[in-house]
Amino acid sequence: MLSIKNLTKIYGGKNKAVDNISLDIKQGEFIAFIGTSGSGKTTALRMINRMIEATSGSIEIDGKNIMQMNPVELRRSIGYVIQQIGLLPHLTIKENIVLVPKLLKWSEERKDKKARELINLVDLPESYLDRYPSELSGGQQQRIGVIRALAAEQDIILMDEPFGALDPITRDTLQDLVKVLQKKLGKTFIFVTHDMDEAIKLADRIAIMSNGQLVQFDTPDEILRNPANQFVRDFIGENRLIQDRPNMRTVEDAMIKPISVTADKSLNDVIAIMRERRVDTIFVTRNDGSLLGYLDIEDINEGYRKGKDLIDIMHRDVFKIKNHDKLQDSVRTILKRNLRNIPVVDENNILLGLITRSNLVDIVYDSIWGETPVGVDEA
Ligand code: ADP
Ligand code: MG
Repeated sequence: MLSIKNLTKIYGGKNKAVDNISLDIKQGEFIAFIGTSGSGKTTALRMINRMIEATSGSIEIDGKNIMQMNPVELRRSIGYVIQQIGLLPHLTIKENIVLVPKLLKWSEERKDKKARELINLVDLPESYLDRYPSELSGGQQQRIGVIRALAAEQDIILMDEPFGALDPITRDTLQDLVKVLQKKLGKTFIFVTHDMDEAIKLADRIAIMSNGQLVQFDTPDEILRNPANQFVRDFIGENRLIQDRPNMRTVEDAMIKPISVTADKSLNDVIAIMRERRVDTIFVTRNDGSLLGYLDIEDINEGYRKGKDLIDIMHRDVFKIKNHDKLQDSVRTILKRNLRNIPVVDENNILLGLITRSNLVDIVYDSIWGETPVGVDEA
């Protein structure tokens, strides 16, 4: 439905910002443009809604050449989102959501309906529509920022590094939200990023740019499996290397010593150990050290009153991670599932360590991303 042919943008008579790129994008596809700084991503994106006029080549939307459309109307029919700009503080949530529909002179009724429909999509109560941004948590405000981009019912939405300035956990949450909404609403997203992980996570197909040229345009899988050339190989490698800080690569590097008991202990013993070590969760192992389950202090108190044994009351259904798992993947899971204490085991299910939510935030976060921890309660 979006067909780009031999698109070129030349600045100053010689500098080819975009150099003869051609690609077809289907309705409902999520496309990521990726490349180093200056590779022509923004220029390519902006030619799609004629914020930048092409030097040569053509773009057709549903068979219609955009050069022959009224540029203002074209621009209104395509959503455009730049780096996550905050909500306007003096406007209510509803007014923030319907900013563009208001410019498009929608009726009050239609704006109202749209605002309610969108806020329901992100599971916030309609009563929030009359509140001001400062009355919402940071995470709630971010979600409103995302649905605002969808308010004008445009079929194509262009996003230029919308999450570039966000911390990794917020970014991860919003990526998930964008992906869910894009699928649900069947919109075409064209997304510029320089983060390969983001592109892989979100995009149906990735367009890799270098020096204004389109080097490869394919699914994430295919690009990872069959990089078109050395440039793509290097680009993927470089991008992946960003996360591979030498000191904190696997779960093992971040885990702490777990407190555990063997299954033959009495509840009395367990209570004594937990008191002494000041923990509210304790893991239960077999004699060979393999993990069986865990107990919370509440379970123990209750079991003790009812005269039960450790083995009767322990939870056997325990979420665990492997010592060689990638730390970053585990962080995502842990934060997403809202887990507090996660045991670390080896291939033989031997309990080796423990990752806690708080030691994640304090230690891991900092070492993976080298940034200051922020609140994660909305993550
Ligand atoms: P990206 O978004 O991938 O970082 P851009 O599309 O912004 O890259 O820029 C591509 C190239 O075009 C760069 O070399 C940039 O310096 C050049 N360029 C961008 N805008 C202009 C402009 N208005 N005038 C001259 N050169 C420009
Ligand atoms: Mg750019």
